[in-house]
Amino acid sequence: MRPLVLLTILIAFHCVLRNCFCTSEQDKVLSITAVTQEQVNLLQNISSHNETVLWQPASPSHITANTPVHLYVQSSSLARVTEQLQTHGFLFRVLLENTQRLIQEQTRNDTTDPKSSGTNERYHSLEDIYHFLNKTSEDYPDMTKLILIGSSFEKNPLFVLKLSGRRGPVDKAMWMDCGIHAREWISPAFCLWFIKFALTFYKENPDITTMLDKLDIYILPIMNPDGYKYTWTTNRMWRKNRASRDDSLCVGVDLNRNFDANWCTKGASSNPCSDIYCGQYPESEPEVQAVTKFLRSHKDVVKLYFSIHSYSQMLLFPYSYTHEQIPNHNELYDLVQEASSKIRRHYRNQYRFGSGAKTIYIAPGGSDDWAYDQGIKYSFTFELQDRGQYGFLLPPNLITSACNEAFAAVKTIVLRVLVKLQ
Ligand SMILES: [Zn+2]
Repeated sequence: MRPLVLLTILIAFHCVLRNCFCTSEQDKVLSITAVTQEQVNLLQNISSHNETVLWQPASPSHITANTPVHLYVQSSSLARVTEQLQTHGFLFRVLLENTQRLIQEQTRNDTTDPKSSGTNERYHSLEDIYHFLNKTSEDYPDMTKLILIGSSFEKNPLFVLKLSGRRGPVDKAMWMDCGIHAREWISPAFCLWFIKFALTFYKENPDITTMLDKLDIYILPIMNPDGYKYTWTTNRMWRKNRASRDDSLCVGVDLNRNFDANWCTKGASSNPCSDIYCGQYPESEPEVQAVTKFLRSHKDVVKLYFSIHSYSQMLLFPYSYTHEQIPNHNELYDLVQEASSKIRRHYRNQYRFGSGAKTIYIAPGGSDDWAYDQGIKYSFTFELQDRGQYGFLLPPNLITSACNEAFAAVKTIVLRVLVKLQ
């Protein structure tokens, strides 16, 4: 057997064993719109195939007529998938051609060089993020506190960084988590950006100064460290955590379906192989347990909850698990509307807004709904850039603009809520 052939077989075998998803130069992301119910069914079938990954929506069950579906298709399946689409008269186009180059661009500059940690215009590996958090807590001992709230399935630490202004104790706090979903790299990038911005511009920027003087800010930059690490080493398209169980070959629970908020009802899946698998029971996952334990013990002080995701540019609030409106629906609607118009005015970018169920689709077990039902009445989920041009593969040179927009929305809401709480 020729060495090259042998090597190819070995790599393929290694991939099967490690459950990895090998990307290649010819992989593409397609935007496909189903019009008839027959096309919806067919598209659900195609997107359940192993060599495709749904980018939008998160699961085949969420596919509906007349809403564009973003589907990552591996080169080996591209001819078969496009032929099927053409045969059945689908409207579709190529959204992204050069996925492999984009992935390389996102990881090329990674280095454990301490001096470069925390810079804005690139993404950071898990080790880099831990290093940044340790270094920041050493550099700002009077404004930060690093809190270990638990550990992941693979025993990676879950660190919360508490930010406070240089003042006495306050009785209000906000919470922000990033990186629940592994492949949404702009999310942890925003948490790191926010930390740097807050510490650098405290006493210079009036908005962040007000926030730090009136609130303790708890930030969990990476809620799903195992999944995030896996996206750097093995499969860039991974969404869930990396929990394994004895009775299934499939790995991972969707942490944003594992909270105890109408858990595992319509909009989640009890199939461990699904990307929206809800887990064996509510709060079964150590990452979710760590967050809920911390928030339960701080729920008297935490007034605002933010969960940062990507992509699709949306500012959302509860509920996602039901179409029913929350008691203060109009109040939160006004807040996200104002935040969205700030982004439009300052950055000329469109963000849709509204309750999760009405704006995207029904999704139970989410963190923002759970936080809201715990009594945190200002609870939000943001979907950051972009709207599908690059999707999860947002190039590093767009990190800063995505973070500026996200911060504009956070500060608009927080400053308005602070006035209400006075
Ligand atoms: Zn997400």
